[in-house]
Amino acid sequence: MATLAAARPLDRVADFPAIPSGWAYLDTAATAQKPRPVIDAIARGYGETYATVHRGVYQRSAEMTLAFEAARRRVAAFIGAPAAEEIVFVRGATEGINLVAQSWGGANLQSGDRILLSALEHHSNIVPWQMIAERTGAAIDVAPLTADHRIDLDAVAAMLTERHKIVALAHVSNVLGSVLDARRAAGLAHRVGAKLLLDGCQAVPRMPVDVAALGCDFYVFSGHKLYGPTGIGVLWGRAELLDAMPPWQGGGAMIDKVSFARTTYAPPPARFEAGTPHVVGVVGLHAAIDYVTGIGLDAIAAHEAALVAETRAMLSRINAIRLFGPEDSAGIVSFGLEGVHPHDIGTILDEAQVAVRAGHHCAQPLMALLGVDATARASFGVYNGPRDVEMLGAGLERVARIFA
Ligand code: PMP
Repeated sequence: MATLAAARPLDRVADFPAIPSGWAYLDTAATAQKPRPVIDAIARGYGETYATVHRGVYQRSAEMTLAFEAARRRVAAFIGAPAAEEIVFVRGATEGINLVAQSWGGANLQSGDRILLSALEHHSNIVPWQMIAERTGAAIDVAPLTADHRIDLDAVAAMLTERHKIVALAHVSNVLGSVLDARRAAGLAHRVGAKLLLDGCQAVPRMPVDVAALGCDFYVFSGHKLYGPTGIGVLWGRAELLDAMPPWQGGGAMIDKVSFARTTYAPPPARFEAGTPHVVGVVGLHAAIDYVTGIGLDAIAAHEAALVAETRAMLSRINAIRLFGPEDSAGIVSFGLEGVHPHDIGTILDEAQVAVRAGHHCAQPLMALLGVDATARASFGVYNGPRDVEMLGAGLERVARIFA
């Protein structure tokens, strides 16, 4: 088990001006706070270098376009994508999954086909598939979890058939922190000719990700969970898949030629980026990637593993605590306190200047499986340290006293 002594403490809290002094911000899985370099990049983007991209013939726009496309190359390198053209900028993971479901799913799914999801998925990796299943007549199967709350890949292996066209799974669960064996999942999907989409929202901020090595077909994540701006996210897809996919939104920037008789479309990624993009969001995302890679994703993973180990040990000393998720969860610990609603836990912790999430975490089917309607969740980032764990522990002792 990782220990705090073994991990290099990161203690980056000074980089984050929006974290009030004396606060324990333990809600990074919902959204990460923003470091100064990201805030500065956004301020420069609007305050110094701003212009639209891809259209202007003037120098300023050409420079903004260069910055925009440099960010695309940076994202590609960050996740090990073979080509920058495979990076599609979207609003976030939610939009990325909807894009794949509507565009790829609309073209490739038909009645009798099957989609495989897991019991721990976020609503954004459930509802888009339900919508396209309804449109196409495809059906959805749900893989169960193991006793220690991982996606049960033995069950996935037994469930998959040639009728399955796509498997869509969380790389890391936003509730349990469980890390998927993505390479094995890719092998299982490909064995029956299915594609694998990974929801990487909770993975990219806390571990190195290399889509080529994982062997998946689509990968999505949101910038705001990676210390970047809201409103910007990434869909990566294999070039040959994106090439064959129809556009899902029409408008400016995604066309080749338009006439009232016939419109032809640009190649990817432009085909999937209709309208004026979130130019400054992309620049901010670039700064966020520079920030986390400057620290090192291995160092962040070790740091968060140590905090998770410390937190789980602290929690298990409290009477009537129920801990969810595997011991080696990535950066995220969900728990409950018998007889206390998680909302009360969250409210009392707030009075103790500890910010945790309490609720269903957009994973109502998982809550039903766990037999609860909500959990409390502490999730970590580069600004957290042992003091935050102590504050959480002290706050929970207060909760326990109040409800004793
Ligand atoms: N998937 C997972 C695992 C998530 O944690 C989240 C955000 N909570 C999403 C998808 C959706 O991300 P967004 O709301 O940024 O589109």
